[in-house]
Amino acid sequence: MSVRFIFRCQFCSDQPDPLTQVNLEKAMRENTWGAYQDALPGRWLVFHARGLYGSPRYACREHRGDLVAYLRQHFGTIGYHVWKRPPYPSSLAHSDTDHAWIAATRRQGGWGS
Ligand SMILES: [Zn+2]
Repeated sequence: MSVRFIFRCQFCSDQPDPLTQVNLEKAMRENTWGAYQDALPGRWLVFHARGLYGSPRYACREHRGDLVAYLRQHFGTIGYHVWKRPPYPSSLAHSDTDHAWIAATRRQGGWGS
């Protein structure tokens, strides 16, 4: 069973095109926080939040600047992550992320047990 995430821009409730949706779903697998990420080809902006930043944030191409401003206004005093300047990476993937994802998937699926 696959999980389907619903992504909406927090400013206009727009939803991503199918390809951007795929990349947003990939972004959700990133084992990171406090980082911006581009979701192509629609140029959505993801902010990996968690911890003190709360839940993850998304914004469409038109509102990505608004998202950065919003985060800096709300979290600018408690964390330096929100001050990071573009360009933002379109992928944060690295081997640790893949290992973490595979480990989590195995635990659920019970392969090899
Ligand atoms: Zn928007």
